[in-house]
Amino acid sequence: MKIGLIDVDGHNFPNLALMKLSAWHKRQGDDVGWYDPFSRYDLVYQSKVFANTPDYQFIINADKVVKGGTGYAIHGAGGEHYCKADDPALPDEVEHIYPDYGLYGITDKAIGFLTRGCPRGCLFCIVAGKEGKRSRKVADLSEFWSGQKNIVLCDPNILACPDWRDLFQQLADSRATIDFNQGLDARMLTEEKIAAIERLKIKEIHFAWDRYEDKAAVLPKLKMFAKSGAMPNSHNAIVYVLVNHGTTIEQDLERIYTLRDLGYWAYVMVYDKPHASRTIHDMERWCNNRFIFPKCPRFEDYGKVEEVKDERQLTLF
Ligand code: SF4
Repeated sequence: MKIGLIDVDGHNFPNLALMKLSAWHKRQGDDVGWYDPFSRYDLVYQSKVFANTPDYQFIINADKVVKGGTGYAIHGAGGEHYCKADDPALPDEVEHIYPDYGLYGITDKAIGFLTRGCPRGCLFCIVAGKEGKRSRKVADLSEFWSGQKNIVLCDPNILACPDWRDLFQQLADSRATIDFNQGLDARMLTEEKIAAIERLKIKEIHFAWDRYEDKAAVLPKLKMFAKSGAMPNSHNAIVYVLVNHGTTIEQDLERIYTLRDLGYWAYVMVYDKPHASRTIHDMERWCNNRFIFPKCPRFEDYGKVEEVKDERQLTLF
């Protein structure tokens, strides 16, 4: 069979489902490759992870087309509604196959999930609807790692998994550099978990303080982590701060300043960006810019910095 693959989001971040489908079809002896509109296919897979990516617009030259991915299952402005029926899971034998990293030319990196699901069920997040409201182990590291120097984990809440000890031991034994690309749930931190994190090779760590009202649960844990040997320097200790979702600007700034005082870098994530105010967008630009933020400690002064910059630019021309 001739199999075509379409990564609707583009090729900036490798699509794990397509890498697994590629591996599975190659194992069946099929001819697999990126979709070429000038060729004819028996079957084409079209996958989209991000809701805001426009769909593939052209007629597909194939006997059968299968569409899948989270991007087809999130509906409504701001992406608040996830419809599981529009996002069918891969068959087990595909889901648990070693991915075809070569599809994206990846040689030094392994990507995958050790756990799925999250007990939190945050209103702005689809994980509970997609994967269930419980973090559970779904794989051993060897399922998608075979000695690469870098491991990217897409787990939504590995610290909430009852098997976290076993999984962290597997990660430590790999001696690879670990990237928890979905961040870690600070509320789940304990001294024992922090010690397990410390045993890993990590360049950058991400937490989140999404809801202002979680202050009492999040802050003591972030303080505990900041005092530990697992804490990297502030550029590499990042805390996502969700804004434009039920908080005031004062509460957003309080989170940003508090995190900075603790030695973290706050990273503003804007909910429902197209409908966010100018102030929210300015706050995002100010806080997330690694050159401006250290030079301009107060958001209130950000506009003045911009003016100065403009004047300097004027003198250049
Ligand atoms: S803690 Fe994170 S993964 Fe879990 S529901 Fe909330 S946003 Fe989603």
